[in-house]
Amino acid sequence: MEILDGLNTKIQLLENLKKKVLKLERPLGLVVIQIGLDKASTVYVNQKRKMAESLGFNFNHIKLDDNVDEDTVIKLIQELNNDNYVDGILVQMPLPSHLNEKRIQNAVDPNKDVDGLTDINAGRLSHGIDSLIPCTPAGIMDLLKIYKIGVEGKNVTIVGRSDLVGKPLSYLMTNNNATVTLCHSKTNNLKLFTRLADILVVAIGKPEFIKEDYVKNGSVVIDVGINRVDGKLIGDVDFSNVSNKCSYITKVPGGVGPMTVYELANNTYKAYTLRKNKFR
Ligand code: NAP
Repeated sequence: MEILDGLNTKIQLLENLKKKVLKLERPLGLVVIQIGLDKASTVYVNQKRKMAESLGFNFNHIKLDDNVDEDTVIKLIQELNNDNYVDGILVQMPLPSHLNEKRIQNAVDPNKDVDGLTDINAGRLSHGIDSLIPCTPAGIMDLLKIYKIGVEGKNVTIVGRSDLVGKPLSYLMTNNNATVTLCHSKTNNLKLFTRLADILVVAIGKPEFIKEDYVKNGSVVIDVGINRVDGKLIGDVDFSNVSNKCSYITKVPGGVGPMTVYELANNTYKAYTLRKNKFR
């Protein structure tokens, strides 16, 4: 069994990206809009700031009051869409319940949508068109690539069908010739599908839900889950129970999480090049 080390992979990939970014004629601009003071969101935004500043990006963290009205948020996004020095815009989720998440996400210019969450980018991905892809699935694909784990012809089971992780990953895997099964909370006999998987990806938000009887011998297991239990971060996979059956497995923390942070930097660079090519 080998650990898929997201932390060290992130460090290497960021080094490579930094070389490209330093050659640009100006620093890349990344804006994160945070609405309200959700504690976990603040931790995630600070991780993004650290990454952005390590690459010399201009990082702007805009904090809005949690009772801000929707039109004010949309107006701010439109201003950022029109600002040539802003390459990437990200609205930190979750939003306060009075705000329409879809409307706000779709206000972002698809070519600055570094979270890959606009309907336009989701559609591009589903049609196999090069686009800004949600960071977590992109990170999973890159982690597999770095470890030379091919997906073509493999049975890939994904547990969790969110717009953020499971669904876009199912398209990425399909576009790369895997045979994909996408499971969710209404799936009957989940084990039937997880036990078929050469590559099993779990993104459900249920601490240590996946035990050894869900896993095929020799499979690759990717744990996306981040659950806070008694102040500790726990994945969706019971690592000590499952790891002996795997050929490769990720850990929580130190697996998919760091890769997600890298992909945000990569998407910001990609957003810059997309716009540059568009206006050339
Ligand atoms: P989400 O939007 O809450 O979606 C959860 C998905 O899991 C849904 O599709 C749900 O099915 C499915 N599900 C829930 N319980 C299930 C069960 N018992 N059996 C089968 N499927 C089940 O979650 P998310 O945003 O995708 O995040 C999932 C987890 O990944 C969370 O722990 C989150 O913190 C973590 N995460 C980590 C990263 C990272 O960078 N590592 C990034 C994003 C998310 P239904 O559709 O039927 O409700």
